[in-house]
Amino acid sequence: MLKIDGLKKTYSTGDEALKGVSFEVDSSEIVAIIGPSGAGKSTLIRCVNRLEEPTEGTIFLDDVEVTSLSKKELRNARRDIGMVFQEFGLVDRLTVMENVLSGRLGYMSSLNAFRRNYPEEDIRRAREILSTVDMAGYEDDRADELSGGQRQRVGIARAVIQNPKILLVDEPTSALDPETSRKVMELLIDIAQEEDISVLINIHEVHLATRFADKIFGLRDGEVVFEGLAAELDESA
Ligand code: ADP
Ligand code: ADP
Repeated sequence: MLKIDGLKKTYSTGDEALKGVSFEVDSSEIVAIIGPSGAGKSTLIRCVNRLEEPTEGTIFLDDVEVTSLSKKELRNARRDIGMVFQEFGLVDRLTVMENVLSGRLGYMSSLNAFRRNYPEEDIRRAREILSTVDMAGYEDDRADELSGGQRQRVGIARAVIQNPKILLVDEPTSALDPETSRKVMELLIDIAQEEDISVLINIHEVHLATRFADKIFGLRDGEVVFEGLAAELDESA
């Protein structure tokens, strides 16, 4: 479903963040990328939705070559790519409901979201997803009144309402305590399975990766140094 082949990214500073990375994510699969800070995990995620322009290599989402799309074509392709940001990416002055609904516009436009009228159907769907991520009853709270774990769950809800084929998740737990991290991961996996969405997730806690992912890629200095099932990593660790 997602096929990455020979992906390289060299920043203008000369930093070779990715040195030829190849792997696949199958449909409905949860794939974790682990590795030390500076390994290239964020760069990889940002290349998949072209927030960062790859230097070389190809990325296919089903039969769409993401790497060769024009800016205009990219806007459509991004409907299929949900993004959950590290810093949650919520608009503080909007309510939980408004933040989730803004996901209907796609994550780039949602950054400029303001009050508008959404169809009743979208509102019903938003309530349903908020309930799945355990945030029912918070619809009218402002985003800046929430805890870190709550914000992360609203961020997930906003990505899911977009109805993507794949969710890209950049370090979902880096700002959270271990207990909240585990809960957020459980919710993320539940909702991905329920909605039949693939997940590509950057995570630095190996124990969370082995527990929740189907497949794990170890990245170091811009190269894949490990690739396998979560159980195999457990044995080799
Ligand atoms: P990780 O997410 O694994 O911590 P990153 O993808 O953030 O790794 O970074 C990989 C390498 O690329 C690092 O050496 C980092 O300094 C460099 N890097 C990341 N972003 C940029 C950028 N915008 N400009 C230049 N170098 C960058
Ligand atoms: P992360 O590693 O979690 O992605 P960082 O704190 O390393 O985040 O980077 C924050 C921002 O700075 C990002 O937008 C990243 O692209 C940029 N950045 C990271 N490393 C470099 C670098 N060596 N030179 C220039 N920009 C960088």
